[in-house]
Amino acid sequence: MKNDKEFDVKITLPAVGLGTWGGRSVDEVADAVLCALKLGYRHIDTAWIYTFAEEATGQALRKWLGARTHEDASASFSKEQADSSAETPSRKDLIIATKLWTTFMAPEHVLLGVEQSLARLGLSYLDLLYVHWPILKPFSGAETHPVDEIIQPRFATNIELADTWRLMEALVDQGKVRLLGLCNVTVAMIGEILAVARIKPAVVQVEMHPYLPQDDLVEFCARHGIAVVAYSPLGSPGSIFKDDTTPVLLRDPVVTAIAAKHAVEPAQILLSWSIQRGIKVIPKSTNPARLLTNLHPDVPLDADDLARLATLGIKHVRYFDPNKLFGVNLFQE
Ligand code: NDP
Repeated sequence: MKNDKEFDVKITLPAVGLGTWGGRSVDEVADAVLCALKLGYRHIDTAWIYTFAEEATGQALRKWLGARTHEDASASFSKEQADSSAETPSRKDLIIATKLWTTFMAPEHVLLGVEQSLARLGLSYLDLLYVHWPILKPFSGAETHPVDEIIQPRFATNIELADTWRLMEALVDQGKVRLLGLCNVTVAMIGEILAVARIKPAVVQVEMHPYLPQDDLVEFCARHGIAVVAYSPLGSPGSIFKDDTTPVLLRDPVVTAIAAKHAVEPAQILLSWSIQRGIKVIPKSTNPARLLTNLHPDVPLDADDLARLATLGIKHVRYFDPNKLFGVNLFQE
């Protein structure tokens, strides 16, 4: 058994990782992940619930790692593996993050959810395992069509997150997971876990963009040494079932004006805004040119740019609203 001190695997998340939600086919997502890995992305964000994205990520990893796949994927991580060589594609250079879906949140189902994710990814360990939502949905044993579950929110209830967390800690002890994280939580919820955790959350992932800056959470996490990952950093298409999936935020006049001023793409403004706040981003794209743009946003935003972007926070837009997704007022708003 590793104790808290022995498990001191420090990873630094790269500023930019890849989101994998919203692809239209397994091949499209697998091609995007492979392209991203070749471009230099090293943090891939997926989830049990993202129809076929774990499977697609697994396919891309096998191609990228090539002959080394079996060797690397079957070996458990060790502290020595933290010394990486960037030249040769290697499992140990990657941060593969996935998320425990709501139907696996009861302590007795945590292991099953993680084993399913590992099998789809073709990996023997996860670098980062998140609680996807601090919500429990009853486990029916036949969660085969996740999209239905999202479109038809039913029977969601809050749970004692601490009970689930203990099981996740056990997975770290067993070497199946390196780091633990929380998604879709408030400062109060993070505080509750910090109060009981033997292994504290290394990463918190929440929706974050200029329409939802979450300043209090950013400040709290900085104070507690918790990395923050912004999901939907471009404002998300919101739904993938529409003709034009361009996020509305990318067309916001404030964002486009700042982009024009710097002669860059609006996406670069949004990603640079997060990165300058010390936040990691995981934009999703299946377009190779955009994958490259997103990896190097590199726009030095000045005080005037930041002040104008700060005015957008008043909108308080959530593209992933638990009231609509689950019928649960998780954030009390
Ligand atoms: P994003 O904010 O990443 O926006 C993705 C959209 O932006 C896609 O339509 C994409 O289209 C488009 N896009 C990407 N790059 C550019 C660019 N440079 N210029 C113009 N358009 C661009 O939304 P997501 O909601 O996908 O969030 C990112 C990731 O966060 C997800 O994929 C997922 O991994 C994670 N996530 C986590 C959640 C959680 O509950 N923890 C919830 C939601 C997301 P195209 O592919 O055609 O480029």
